[in-house]
Amino acid sequence: MTVPISGDPSIPIDLRSDTVTRPTAAMRAAMAAAPVGDDQFAEDPSINLLQERCAELLGKEAALWLPTGTMANQVALKLLTRPGDDVIVSRQSHAVWHEAGASAANAGVQFTEVGERGVFTAAEVLAARKPRGHPLFAPTTLVEVENTHNRSGGVVVPQAEAIAIGAAARAHDIASYLDGSRLWNAAIASGTAVGELAAPFDVVSVAFSKGLGAPGGALLAGRRDIISRAVRARRMFGGAMRQVGFFAAAALHALDHHLERLADDHANAALIADRLTGLPGIDLDRATVQTNIVIFTLTAPEADAAAFVAEARRRGVLLVAFGARTVRAVTHLDVSQTECDIAAGIMAAMLLGM
Ligand SMILES: *Cc1c(COP(=O)(O)O)cnc(C)c1O
Repeated sequence: MTVPISGDPSIPIDLRSDTVTRPTAAMRAAMAAAPVGDDQFAEDPSINLLQERCAELLGKEAALWLPTGTMANQVALKLLTRPGDDVIVSRQSHAVWHEAGASAANAGVQFTEVGERGVFTAAEVLAARKPRGHPLFAPTTLVEVENTHNRSGGVVVPQAEAIAIGAAARAHDIASYLDGSRLWNAAIASGTAVGELAAPFDVVSVAFSKGLGAPGGALLAGRRDIISRAVRARRMFGGAMRQVGFFAAAALHALDHHLERLADDHANAALIADRLTGLPGIDLDRATVQTNIVIFTLTAPEADAAAFVAEARRRGVLLVAFGARTVRAVTHLDVSQTECDIAAGIMAAMLLGM
């Protein structure tokens, strides 16, 4: 088969994000059949079931459903810090780039970014840590790890480093939080259970709206006393809802049917990366493509990510400009191996000036 240099723009191959998936017929049926109740009375049976199942999966005492991963991150910051505190995060973290400045507005914290390519070490935490009780310093009270790391191309945080970071934090009375919006991808890619990945951290979040393909929903898990306080924080942020068992049913369905298949998304991302690596005008670190995200930088002096994305759209492939020269493609439930192959061919043709 010859791969076309242009596809059909009326039926684009959408690689903008793993959030663009639509519920499958089976997921819609599960949602329609879900028993629901008022979740603010803790009476939604589907939410209660999802919370219990995820608390167990994540190896934590309790779990709380929230509408979005961003709100989960904001609630966690609110619970684990005080205004004026310092939070150590990875460079290019979601908390710094993609939450609309919420952390400064809501929890009133500042961030110290450490490490490279989404990963940092316990030694870097200790070097960046600002002690409590100092007249000049904002005290470091929280360390936040993002696994997988979105802006670094979906890299998986090495588990030995996560364990060392958790231990260093505990030794200095610093709380630890795992932004696990794509923890499911990390688990499948590394062959490590999500409970093991979450173990070094006090609190962990997961999302159902990314690779799992549910229409929405995220969850926080941790000690019972922390999650009890999260119920009020969620209300303060306006995120307490009512018959959200419909969302929980989608998430439960996804855990049963869409978890193992994340390996397909990872294989499709690898396929795209293999096609593009080494082509002229592009810097793609193949080693970062460990899960479902492919990020590359255009190297020509006149290159412009927005123009590349616009041309790809004309040829029937949807991408996202992640920076002035940086482009992101994400694989997911709604793109097949064939579509990823076609999309990779179209991107390759563009880079080759065809
Ligand atoms: C997507 C994402 C979130 C949360 O996103 P929502 O769109 O609010 O659900 C949080 N952290 C990371 C790393 C993400 O990629």
